[in-house]
Amino acid sequence: MVLNEPGGDLEWTYIADRQPGPGEIRIKVGACGVCRTDLHVLDGELPDLKLPIIPGHEIVGRIDAIGVGVNGLSIGERVGVPWLGHTCGVCPYCTSLQENLCDRPLFTGYTRDGGFATATIADARFAFPLGEVGSDVALAPLLCAGLIGWRSLGIAGVGKKLGLYGFGAAAHIVAQAAKWQGRSVFAFTRPGDVSAQDFARSLGATWAGGSDEMPPEPLDAAIIYAAVGDLVPLALKAVRKGGRVVCAGIHMSDIPSFPYRLLWEERQLVSVANLTRQDGIDFLKLAPEIGIVTETTCYPLNQANQALADLRAGRFEGAAVLVP
Ligand SMILES: [Zn+2]
Ligand SMILES: [Zn+2]
Repeated sequence: MVLNEPGGDLEWTYIADRQPGPGEIRIKVGACGVCRTDLHVLDGELPDLKLPIIPGHEIVGRIDAIGVGVNGLSIGERVGVPWLGHTCGVCPYCTSLQENLCDRPLFTGYTRDGGFATATIADARFAFPLGEVGSDVALAPLLCAGLIGWRSLGIAGVGKKLGLYGFGAAAHIVAQAAKWQGRSVFAFTRPGDVSAQDFARSLGATWAGGSDEMPPEPLDAAIIYAAVGDLVPLALKAVRKGGRVVCAGIHMSDIPSFPYRLLWEERQLVSVANLTRQDGIDFLKLAPEIGIVTETTCYPLNQANQALADLRAGRFEGAAVLVP
């Protein structure tokens, strides 16, 4: 499913299987999750988009061809491919454990072809072996919603009272991880979205309400997954002195101006960008231990446009997954 022009629909396109180059593998896709970032790619909201592009960066599949110079992976092995698809390895960020900020990265489904396809080519160094536990569909949302969620949870600090703004694919995974860590989760949804609030409570949220409401007690930290800048001052208002607000999306509408007193008293406002391979290794190892259960809605690959439209409209809980 190819995007030829921002603002357009994805188009079903026949492309002959490509051969993996040096250091690359070819993966027969078993499932690929649909992420909010895919909507930003579609809408042309991110700079330097490669066109045409095959979106999709929550890929689960099996290796069916291996390029020269790849070690430690074998034909038939199940792997996952995340958003971070390549790094340069030599820039100041790569050499200081911040490869998520690499100066010359490639991102799966954005600047290199991704997984809304029957097969894809990946840099072997950025493919995580997934083992055989769990279905392809259940694992797919872990590759971005889970990974970025995990990174944002770490950046939020160790506070016990955690707010999650936007209760979609990432938050439904993070809520389970946060609960496992002994935290209390306060879930903020679109105002009036009762089904999302019920969904949050079913996953153990202590409290769920609209994003226009204040939580019953001040929060230690809040993570914003919705791409809505208006949530920033609301989240700052909801955290205690010294609390932290983390913006976890790649794109957000403009943040409205707000009184300085919302930031005063050592409140912090930070963003989270991308992931490191270490995030992936850490989280994918922990996920079965935590017992994370993903809520998924499956669509055939050729229904990708419908899946994206349903994501935009909030027509399902949890995550959408495409199956070729
Ligand atoms: Zn994503
Ligand atoms: Zn780099």
